[in-house]
Amino acid sequence: MQHAIQLLTEAGDGAKILAGGQSLVPLFNLGLARPSVLIDINRLDTLDYIEQRNGSIAVGALTRHATAEASDLLHAACPLLAEAIPMIGDPQVRNRGSVGGSLAHADPVAEIPTLRSVWVP
Ligand SMILES: Cc1cc2nc3c(=O)[nH]c(=O)nc-3n(C[C@H](O)[C@H](O)[C@H](O)COP(=O)(O)OP(=O)(O)OC[C@H]3O[C@@H](n4cnc5c(N)ncnc54)[C@H](O)[C@@H]3O)c2cc1C
Repeated sequence: MQHAIQLLTEAGDGAKILAGGQSLVPLFNLGLARPSVLIDINRLDTLDYIEQRNGSIAVGALTRHATAEASDLLHAACPLLAEAIPMIGDPQVRNRGSVGGSLAHADPVAEIPTLRSVWVP
């Protein structure tokens, strides 16, 4: 984790984080993204969690959509989110794509960013 942060700091605006790659890799294929440094966070297991913290639900940036889809905690605490996540792409996309990647990419038609704008106007 510290190494990833250090790389991000050193590379500045030219760097991109690679999470599930479900939005970033298509951008590479279309020639719409050309980062100078690609920081792969896929092995940072500490970013993959869903847990209760001080009366809130904390979701790690690298939590896959499929993990969120299967989470009883999320189903109980955020039924709207639990209802929306199965609508994301297909099982293959949900197995790779991450909650953090979806929020960072912020596609206005994507499920999680849309719900975020409902929670945090
Ligand atoms: C065929 C297909 C269908 C899809 N259908 C849907 C759909 O119906 N609904 C929907 O909502 N989405 C859909 N998606 C997108 C999917 O949800 C992606 O998983 C998501 O948009 C991006 O998550 P990712 O982990 O793949 O991120 P990546 O593609 O790896 O990264 C996306 C962007 O976020 C940045 N980023 C990633 N993680 C972080 C982080 N931790 N901190 C800061 N920046 C970060 C990256 O640098 C990049 O700019 C689809 C994708 C595909 C390929």
